[in-house]
Amino acid sequence: MKKLIPHQVGDTQRYALVSGTAILPDRLIQDSYVEWSGGMLTRVGAIPKRIAKNVQVIDASGCYVSPGWIDIHVHGGGGADFMDGQVQAIQTACKTHLRHGTTTIFPTTTTGSHESIIRMIDAVDATIRSADPGLPTIEGVHLYGPYFTPEKSGCHRKEACRAPVRSEFEQYFKSGPIRIATCAAELVGSADFYRYAHKRGCLVTCGHSNASWTEMDKAHRCGMSHVDHFWCAMSSVASVRSRLGTPMQGSMLEFVLAHNTMSTEVIADGYHLSPELLQFAWQMKKASTLCLVSDTSRALDMPPGKYAFGHPEENVWIESTGKVGLSPAGGLASSVVALDHCVRHMAKVTRIPLFDIVRMASLTPAQLTGIAKYRGSLEAGKRADVLVLDRKLQVQKVFYNGGLAGDLVGSNP
Ligand SMILES: [Zn+2]
Ligand SMILES: [Zn+2]
Repeated sequence: MKKLIPHQVGDTQRYALVSGTAILPDRLIQDSYVEWSGGMLTRVGAIPKRIAKNVQVIDASGCYVSPGWIDIHVHGGGGADFMDGQVQAIQTACKTHLRHGTTTIFPTTTTGSHESIIRMIDAVDATIRSADPGLPTIEGVHLYGPYFTPEKSGCHRKEACRAPVRSEFEQYFKSGPIRIATCAAELVGSADFYRYAHKRGCLVTCGHSNASWTEMDKAHRCGMSHVDHFWCAMSSVASVRSRLGTPMQGSMLEFVLAHNTMSTEVIADGYHLSPELLQFAWQMKKASTLCLVSDTSRALDMPPGKYAFGHPEENVWIESTGKVGLSPAGGLASSVVALDHCVRHMAKVTRIPLFDIVRMASLTPAQLTGIAKYRGSLEAGKRADVLVLDRKLQVQKVFYNGGLAGDLVGSNP
């Protein structure tokens, strides 16, 4: 049974998880000691010779102690899609992910009308302001749709894909906190979008795109430095050839692999990518520039069946098999699992060290989105977003800052 344990405001009690295996970004510590007070980590290391009497000790023997997951690409859960555009839906989806150990989340848009994207950003903003202690930390919106190329729309509605226009996206940025911004690099206006988002401190990414190397190169110089769900809805040499002819040109794939200034992410749900591709992505990009993302639809923790992907009135219908989402044409249409499943899957099918796997679901997304000063790893001075996992990496306990973190972040150095 997963236990959700929010830190209470003004709680100065010291707590410590003792005797577990702590997962640090570069190693494991057996027989570890992870202490916090007031929701902040105060000590991480080996068990001290003497533990102060006023520390409330929590036995973690036989378990892993991990930083909470950070999901930068996620559409919903528990029957709710962030594009539903209501505070209640945002809460439902966030709470569902929290139960799986996601303590920091970036609600992600899909393609949709201008109005529904505004509604979504407004609702996320209102949810952050509500400071509900039962929620994971919402660091901001991932503006994902609508700036996709129709030829790589995947399960998003083709008709809603469009090129970025300043008068439109400026309103999105004014509506609420956007921290991650996606646009296909070949679209007219993409350079302006990339520069605008980069200037505002976003992680700027290229996705649902059939861009060539040349277009990626130009985009990179405008601040684009990340590619969404590697191998999914992105260009290859063959797809660029069918768009631009010969001589054959490099694609997003070659561009990402050739540049260590480019980062990317994989959907490690077991259905999107085979084990050798997951292993290969890590081998090429290392844990410092590769993230695990869930890309979950609203079908997380719901029975198999038909679900709207995106806003209910502008949706495409997807079919959840209970294991993965499928589009009406039978293509892949997002996952139906959360990051805990992805971490377990990586540990099961690859030979990647556990600390690197966990890093890809915590510190790396924190670094890429600029929040690593206070989140993403077990380190004194950071927020005490801490998971207790059993030996099979199942989430047992979730310690988190909850809605309170929104206020705390503002006062953070
Ligand atoms: Zn996508
Ligand atoms: Zn997605």
